[in-house]
Parts: sequence; C-alpha cells; structure tokens
Amino acid sequence: MLRSKPSAQPSTPSHGEGQHAAAQRPIRNYPPQRSPLPSRIQPTRPVVVPTSSLADNSASAIQTPKLKPVATTSQFTSSRVNLRVIPMGGVEEIGENMTVFEYGDDLIIIDMGLAFPDETMPGIDYIIPDTQWLEQNKKRIRGVIVTHGHLDHIGAIPYILPKLGDPPIYTMPLTAGLIKKRLEEFNLLGRSKINTFQKDDVLKLGNFTIRFFRINHNIPDGVGIAISTPVGLVIYATDWKFDHTPVDDRPTEFDKLALYGSEGVLMLMSDSTNATKPGYSTSERELSETIDRIFAEAQGRIIFATFSTLISRVQQVFNSAMKYNRKVIVTGRSMINNIEIALSLGYLKMDPKLIIKTEMAKKYPEKGIVVLTTGSQGEESAALSRIARGEHKTIKIKKGDTVVVSSSPIPGNERAISSVLSNLTREGAKVLYYQNLDIHTSGHAKQEDLKLMIALTKPKYFMPIHGEHHMLVAHAELAKMLKIPDENIFILDNGQAVEFNSAQIGKLVDPHIQTGYLFIDGLGVGDVGEVVIKDRQVMAEDGMFVIIVTVDRKTGKLLSQPEIISRGFIYMKGSDDLIREVKHEVRKLFESKSKSEANYTLIRQTVRDQVGDYLYQKTERKPMILPVVIEV
Ligand SMILES: [Zn+2]
Ligand SMILES: [Zn+2]
Repeated sequence: MLRSKPSAQPSTPSHGEGQHAAAQRPIRNYPPQRSPLPSRIQPTRPVVVPTSSLADNSASAIQTPKLKPVATTSQFTSSRVNLRVIPMGGVEEIGENMTVFEYGDDLIIIDMGLAFPDETMPGIDYIIPDTQWLEQNKKRIRGVIVTHGHLDHIGAIPYILPKLGDPPIYTMPLTAGLIKKRLEEFNLLGRSKINTFQKDDVLKLGNFTIRFFRINHNIPDGVGIAISTPVGLVIYATDWKFDHTPVDDRPTEFDKLALYGSEGVLMLMSDSTNATKPGYSTSERELSETIDRIFAEAQGRIIFATFSTLISRVQQVFNSAMKYNRKVIVTGRSMINNIEIALSLGYLKMDPKLIIKTEMAKKYPEKGIVVLTTGSQGEESAALSRIARGEHKTIKIKKGDTVVVSSSPIPGNERAISSVLSNLTREGAKVLYYQNLDIHTSGHAKQEDLKLMIALTKPKYFMPIHGEHHMLVAHAELAKMLKIPDENIFILDNGQAVEFNSAQIGKLVDPHIQTGYLFIDGLGVGDVGEVVIKDRQVMAEDGMFVIIVTVDRKTGKLLSQPEIISRGFIYMKGSDDLIREVKHEVRKLFESKSKSEANYTLIRQTVRDQVGDYLYQKTERKPMILPVVIEV
C-alpha cells in the first residue's frame, strides 16, 4: 500500500481508528482551529545556562521556573494562549520523528528524523516529513532540540533545516558531533548554529523552559526533555529504556523523573516501539556476556556487523576485543566516521592501538582479529553484503570465520538479510544472528518499564509516540491500567494536535496542517511524488508496454505498422500472436478516425484503455501502457 497521505483532511477517519475508544471520541469534530498567523516578534534570545553557574549540580538545584498561567477570557478562543503539541511525523510509523510545540508566537521543534522506505516504494532512499506548514511559520521557530543521534531523529536535518531558515540546534555533545558530520556531507555546515548542552543545563527558548534527563538507549547521550510551558510541564521521552547497568555507565536519572512527578506533569509523551512486548527490557550488560562468550569460543576471525550508530554495541565489541586480545579492523564508511566522532568526543573508551589497518592483519593470527562492519540489515552496498558476495576489496570469507549479525531486522529487510547469511555460510563462515543467539537487545522499553515511566511521572494526560498506530494503541492500554482516564489519552495522526488551555484542559484538534511524506531519491527531494511511485509499482509488478505509431501530419493516416516495445511484461519473441493482434487493434483505431477527429490526446487515451483491456483479457496482467504518437 502506498503510504503517501494527501494533505490535511479534517474529518477523514484514518486507519484503525475504531480500535481504540479514545479515538472514538468526537474529537475530530472539534472546530478546527487555524493558527491566526500572529504578528511577528523578535525571536527571544535563547539562553543556555551552564551547569557551573548553578549553585549546586544536583538534580534538586534545577529550579522549576515559576511560570504563571496566562489568563484567558474563554477556553480555546485563540490558540495563541494555548499550548499546542503537534507531531509532524513518528506517530503513524517507526521513523521520521519530529514534533512541534507551539505557544503564543513561539515554536520549538524536537527531532528531525527520516524513515526508510518499504518494499512498496521502489527506488526511494529515504522518507522525510512534509514541512510546508513550518516553512510558512519559520520566523516563529526558536530552535530545534535533538534527543539523540539516530537517523530516525537526525536524518532529515540536512533536508529540512535550510527550508526553515537554518534555525539553531540544541543537543548533547555526541549528537552534535553526528549532526555536524551529516551537515558536512551535505555542504551545510556553518549555516545553523549548533549549541551543545549538558544534561543539567536549563534552556530558555521563548515561552519554553527546557530541562533534560538522561535515559538509556543504545547510543550514548540520549536525553529526555522536560518542557515547562505557561500551561504546564510536558515530558517528552523518546527512544529510551531503563538499564541499571548500561555499557556507558550512565544510568537513567530516576530522581529527575520523580521530581517532575512531584511538580505535576501535564502530559507525558513516551516511546511506543516495544509497547506490545511484555516484561522488562534486558540490560546491555547481559549482551556483553554473550559477546564475550563468542569471542572466547571463536577459533578464527570474528566479523561483527551492527548499525554504525549503535555506539554502545561498538563499545562492547572493543571491550571484548581488548579482553580476548584481538585487534580490530573497521570497515564501512559510516562505521569509520562514527567511531572517529565518538572517539574524539570521548564516548568510546579504548586504546586506539586496538584498531589496525587491514593490511596489518597478516601479522596476526586469525584468532587475533575482529572485523567491525556495517551491513547488519543486508543493505546491498554495505560492507557485510560486499564481503558476502566476495566483492570486498580486502576481506574474503574463509572457513573458520565467525560472522555475528547484531541487530534485529527492520521489517522489510528480512529477505535481504537472509540472502547475505546464505552467501556467508556458503563461503564456510559460521553465522550467529538474532534467530539462533540473543545477539541484540532492543534500545526501547518494554511494557513493565513503560508502566514505571508513567508511574514515576504521574501525568494528567498521556500521548504515546514513536510507533505505528497499533503500537500507540497498545501503549494507551498500559496507561489505562495505570488509571489514566481514557479521555486523557491522545492517539494522534501526523499533523493533528493536542491543545491545552490555561486551565490545563486538553483536547485533540485538527489544525489542518499539511503533513505527509516527502520521498528522497538520489538528489531529488520531494520531486518523486505519489504518481511516480505508483508508476514504479506498476512497472515493477507487470512491466511496461510501449506502442509507437507514426502518422501523417496532414492526413492523420498511419504511415507504417505500429511498433511495440515491451519490458518486463512478456517475452516478445514468444508472443507473436498477441503482438500481431495488438497492432491490428491499434491500426483499426486510427483508420476509423478522419483527420478532423485526430485529437491525439484522446486517441492516446483510447489506445491505452483498449489495449489495456485486451492485454488484461489475454494475460491477466496490467503493464504500464505508453502510447507514443509521432507526427511526420
Ligand atoms: Zn527512534
Ligand atoms: Zn534511537
């Protein structure tokens, strides 16, 4: 199914809405409120208060600003004194996470991620959210806060930031490093100011006062965000799990979560990726033991494939390499880049001498080598796939190698991974992957942890985020178990909003914000629309069928037999009868028309319809039919 969504359609029910009682409320009939474009004011100067200027570094030193609610005469008369929270992406899919907070004249954005295409989108590299609405309101954007360095949170920055007038970015140091690298690749470095903060800093952007709390994920420097607004405190917790023994030794700040709970939380927005999975998430530490065991048992080389952004996993590989006396060869461009960034910022702890160049490998026994590589999703051009196909410049698989694929497949990639695994085993490698060994632990909280987050923060309202609709619904069910009333749970579609007034009453509204997906194909951003995707789907499924006719400009008569070219539809040589019949039909069509009737647009349409029907009758296939009329 094509995922592209038409622009805002106020009361069209979307997929699966009936599944959840909260969505059955007449919320969509709420009078849609368009933001009256407020008069432009000078952007408020953002202030990052460094920790050192605070009297005490402990969590309790972070003073909640005393913000008085703005008085309004009536509820919901104008969105200017209400807080609106608008997910632009990330609540209908895993990926392209991006959320806007609006109060008065101020907008802040959290994350700008991309999504990966599925098999229904041939040729598409990435998908990013449509940001037309933000482009129209770019003068009001006070800043972009980025939670962590994964592509579903930073990947769209180079595509979107320039369209929004290069607003400043605020993020933690490692995330800043990864963003800078990405901007550099797009030749955009230096346009937006990239501000780094530490987790205890307080950031003031217009009407918003923002604090941070550390959460666990599989990349260091992930933070949750506590946003104090004039109508209340909103907690934004994405891509987190609780891990008491994380690889980076920086556990979740439960004290801050409890503190927010006691201050009073208006709304919690929380990660739904694993909301359907019961139990607690496993600690990275358990995985370390598994990796150690593999290192202890492998008799030859180890080839370890994972995401280049799973810095914690990379750290674990270095730890085990150190322990078992193996040198590390790094291959894959993004793996090399990310290790460089993480090392230079101190997020990877190891002796740089551990890494050796491929050419040096000969000096060491097979048992003394581990190759760290990208390609755990079976990506065609990634190093692991090239190794598996025997196309890698320096690394060839041999008997005795142990290949570890440390990630669970992103839906849609199973086939590609499977064929990489087959190629590797064919070459004699022993392959360990998630189905035969617990070699990956998710970075996202499961049900029991999700409940604990709700219990700690005690929110009045709840909005599940980061997931497909059914995951959000599962998360909502958990919130209901914790006594959050059904009507206080908001399951949104991209572009819808929750609006809170000064009395802290929240409602789901549809502000008619243009949302949808922009497809990125090569250098093109958004130039491949639904029509192009549809064409590609048709061609991929049933091929194409081109009919070329040459006509006399004066008489409108056919000058020669129609020509047929077909690709991916039928084998022409074996289908003489069919081709002859099509040519005959096309001839008849032209001969029945006199010059005066020769409206070629119409004729092309008729040829397309009639030939289409005929081919379907004969083959039950629907190729793309392209009639070409050449006048001479
Ligand atoms: Zn994410
Ligand atoms: Zn993440």
